[in-house]
Amino acid sequence: MFKAGKPKVERITLTHKQNFLFNFDLKPAELENYLDEYLIGQKEAKGIIATKICTHFHKAKNLLLKEPRLDSVGFVKNNIIIIGPTGVGKTYTLKLIAHKLGVPFVKGDATKFSETGYVGGDVEDLIRDLYHEAEGDLEKARFGIVYLDEIDKIASPGDIIGPDVSRTGVQRALLKLLEETQVEIRPSYEGFQMLDFPEETRGRRRKNTLNTKYILFVVSGAFQGLEDIIKKRLKKHSLGFISEIEKKDEQRINYLKFVTPEDLVNYGFEREFVGRFPVIAVFDPLSEEELFEILANPNNVIVLNKKRDFKVYGIDLAFTDSALKEISKEAFKEGTGARALSRILERVLIPFERVLPSHQIDTLGVTEELVKDPEGYLRAMLSTPESPKWSEAYREAIFAERDRILHYLDRKKRDTQKLPLEINPKRLNLLFEIYKSEDVEVSQALEELSSVYRQIKAYESSFSKRNQIQAVFTEEAVDYIMEEVLKRDQGVFTFCEKFLTRLEYTFSFLKETTKRNRFYITKKAFVDQEGFLEELLKG
Ligand code: ADP
Repeated sequence: MFKAGKPKVERITLTHKQNFLFNFDLKPAELENYLDEYLIGQKEAKGIIATKICTHFHKAKNLLLKEPRLDSVGFVKNNIIIIGPTGVGKTYTLKLIAHKLGVPFVKGDATKFSETGYVGGDVEDLIRDLYHEAEGDLEKARFGIVYLDEIDKIASPGDIIGPDVSRTGVQRALLKLLEETQVEIRPSYEGFQMLDFPEETRGRRRKNTLNTKYILFVVSGAFQGLEDIIKKRLKKHSLGFISEIEKKDEQRINYLKFVTPEDLVNYGFEREFVGRFPVIAVFDPLSEEELFEILANPNNVIVLNKKRDFKVYGIDLAFTDSALKEISKEAFKEGTGARALSRILERVLIPFERVLPSHQIDTLGVTEELVKDPEGYLRAMLSTPESPKWSEAYREAIFAERDRILHYLDRKKRDTQKLPLEINPKRLNLLFEIYKSEDVEVSQALEELSSVYRQIKAYESSFSKRNQIQAVFTEEAVDYIMEEVLKRDQGVFTFCEKFLTRLEYTFSFLKETTKRNRFYITKKAFVDQEGFLEELLKG
């Protein structure tokens, strides 16, 4: 019937230009550190997924580079099953990973397949989506990630009377893709695409096929009822075990963590299907505290997006900790994980977004009081616009945001041992300015700042080489250059050249006459060049 076909041998030659795999050198811990920047909690699942995905790409790389002749055998994919409730970061984790690796990512919904009965075509559409996501780059597409949600809905529980053809049919249709098969890529707009081809090539267009051998599959679902299956097994096989762990931990235990492939078979998956997923990761429900941490993370897009919404009207938004706590409290009650956070943020802030742009208001400090009663707070704001209360609330929120950035830097330093550049108070100000003025993730703001820093260091070294001296910018000079370059939105090279070429003659003169070779370049070299030269000549 729908048996997985014998895999065809596929040969790929990795070359530097063609394939990102050629340069792939990421270690699991690095990928996990990257995830930590964005993802709160889920430590265990995060670790498992980061590790197995890294290994998947290293394995593919090694196989293709070192043993191309073994290409046809022995490649077992680390396909992953993720179990966990809604809104806890399952999709987000994979999206982040795909982004970091630069591989295409598509998400599909397994229920779509079961509804349509026989599904061969639909399942293959996912692979075609991957090709489009890779912008038609077959090389990229063949190392993409396919994420299939609601996979639990294609399980076929034993209590269905008669054979449950459609669900097991979907599972079997998927088997082929999971292993290896060739999917024909049909251009979506045949006629339109034809026009892109030169006249002479029309009609003999190459048939594109995408082989699924290296495509990584991740399936996920909430798996309602699986917990009972696991509990039952634990009770049956290990008498006393359950009561022992229940005694140990008063809190609710996540039994899903004890899941085995056998449990999934009992849940309604074909043994062969489960066998294609050697990795199982379980995501936990998010606690109220974790929901707060999500909002308080200065890399979080939910909050940044809201800020950007207000920024289009020239209004700067900042949140106090207690406001974020109040939002997390309300979100936790909804029980839809982090999804509730954006909904509540919207509900609370839409009245302000509607009204404030018509008033002379350019800052809004979101406080606990505001979150608890948005309409009342807005009325009060509009009736007493001169009250210092509003600017104080904003100030308090700005301080809280700075503290959260400091906290982020501390954590990053702890996790990665060092930051890309030392952060002194002046640089913290600069970082905060970038973060605030552009409403970007703090990691991006940090990257912008470090990039300017690296350029300064590069200039220092090229200036030294050019003049055959050892020029050293003092820390104060570095901070000054960073500040000016960011303020003027100018390149480091242009900025430094403007001031320092005038000093070249003096450096060369001093080098000749005093045999001095090492010169410190201070802030004075930029702001008071006469004074700097005087000091230089004095020695
Ligand atoms: P699901 O678990 O249902 O796949 P998502 O991963 O799509 O949920 O989560 C929805 C959104 O909620 C994400 O885009 C992200 O902004 C936020 N989010 C969810 N879980 C986390 C988490 N653990 N840490 C940080 N943000 C999260």
